[in-house]
Amino acid sequence: MQITSVYASVVLACLQLSAASAAQPDPAATELWTPEPARVTPGDGAKPPSDAIVLFGGASLEEWMSTDAKPVAAKWPVADGAFKVRSGAGHIQTRRDFLDYQLHIEWRTPADVVGTGQSRGNSGVFLAATGPALRGYELQVLDCAANQTYVNGQAASIYKQLAPLVNACRPNGAWQSYDILWTAPRFLADGTLRSPARVTAFHNGVLVQWNAELTGETVYAGTPRYFPHGRSPIMLQDHGDKGPGVEFRNIWVRELE
Ligand code: MG
Repeated sequence: MQITSVYASVVLACLQLSAASAAQPDPAATELWTPEPARVTPGDGAKPPSDAIVLFGGASLEEWMSTDAKPVAAKWPVADGAFKVRSGAGHIQTRRDFLDYQLHIEWRTPADVVGTGQSRGNSGVFLAATGPALRGYELQVLDCAANQTYVNGQAASIYKQLAPLVNACRPNGAWQSYDILWTAPRFLADGTLRSPARVTAFHNGVLVQWNAELTGETVYAGTPRYFPHGRSPIMLQDHGDKGPGVEFRNIWVRELE
């Protein structure tokens, strides 16, 4: 009797094994062949990817304008494949508006930088400029090689909100890069926040902001808050520092659907 029972158990186990192998899913059932991702020729050094919008290729600031009440051409000087903040000439912003995007931008603080703290090679990339008077969300540009300041105001911080994960700075006078993924905030029809802005950023190829959530627009004093907006320009800051200006070059953006 016992032998019959063991035999029956073995047969049952074999049947279950066989059923299990028969029920193995077809690998091809989970293969997607369409739609094919669009082909993009990757960039190489200063050369942007083939589907990027070049915001500055080395010769002209035609993609930029001043943020004055009556917008005019950007008044910052272009030379040697780069352009430079002209202190007192005001901020500049892109003529185009963007929502979510990937941005590459290179910058350098002057080799003979002057000033201290927040007045030492200060500029900034406003990831969305949302109104007059320097409104938006600032990724800080600042001398961070030998400069003491508050950590949520140093280079690669989201100013007064998010310190960078690490300090990946190069010395003054050396070119540095930001590669940024920006997800714009979304608002409901009544202006209330539906989803906050998020940013991932690499400084010289090193991760410094990781899908970080912003609590609102950058403010110098007080608590950040959101104001409803849609597509917005990207803006570069004239902080009014003394001495030679911060320079920028090789700026391109890929809009994300
Ligand atoms: Mg700044």
